[in-house]
Amino acid sequence: MRYLVLSDIHANLEALENCLELSAGRYEQAVCLGDVVGYGPDPNAVIEQVSHTAGTTIRGNHDRVCAGLGSAEDFNPVAQLAVVWTRRELTPAHTRLLRELPAGPLAMPGFEMVHGSAEDEDQYVLSAAEAIPSLRSQAVQLVFFGHTHIQGVFSLNRAGSFKAITAPRGPDGLVLSLPLEDGTRYLVNPGSVGQPRDHDWRAAFAILDGEERRVEFYRTPYELTATQAKMTRARLPEMLIRRLETGR
Ligand code: ZN
Repeated sequence: MRYLVLSDIHANLEALENCLELSAGRYEQAVCLGDVVGYGPDPNAVIEQVSHTAGTTIRGNHDRVCAGLGSAEDFNPVAQLAVVWTRRELTPAHTRLLRELPAGPLAMPGFEMVHGSAEDEDQYVLSAAEAIPSLRSQAVQLVFFGHTHIQGVFSLNRAGSFKAITAPRGPDGLVLSLPLEDGTRYLVNPGSVGQPRDHDWRAAFAILDGEERRVEFYRTPYELTATQAKMTRARLPEMLIRRLETGR
């Protein structure tokens, strides 16, 4: 089975549409690691599209808070403003859909899905210090995670050798193909569809080829100025509008 792995879409419809266009025909099933909404200007349309496309979606911290299942007090001030805006914007039906998203970890055939980490959906796994304990304790070879908005891989082989790989800034399309080796455990971040933070503004996603035992990482440009214009009209914070073009 080939899986399309999406994460951190953050209500960015233009970015999501371009990811779906580029990945069309390359996968059989789509999954989403959470943060469907928050920050971006199209929460309803994105929930709609994700519920049609990704049969399996777990919730992220922004989904939880925007759905009213938690408070935004731990969020920074601009993220809080975006939560208030998103809560007001969401239809009751879409709020319900968000509320019903399961929390990770979620087991899938041949891999597991988490938002932050298996221990805590709010944890940022950014470095060896955070990744190694997770890799040591994971029961499956492959865990997909999101939350950091940074496309890349942490791995730990049988001999205890740790590796961190950041997806390279290649031309549009496939930027990295990672063969999964027997006896090595992987924590894989497909990158963020709607708000990348790895200094590359292009939308990110991954495809797992279950039979070939390979993960492919992709980047695609999208109509950034259209998303930004919608955010301006919605009066979302300027900092959130600007960060989309720098990928930070
Ligand atoms: Zn996120």
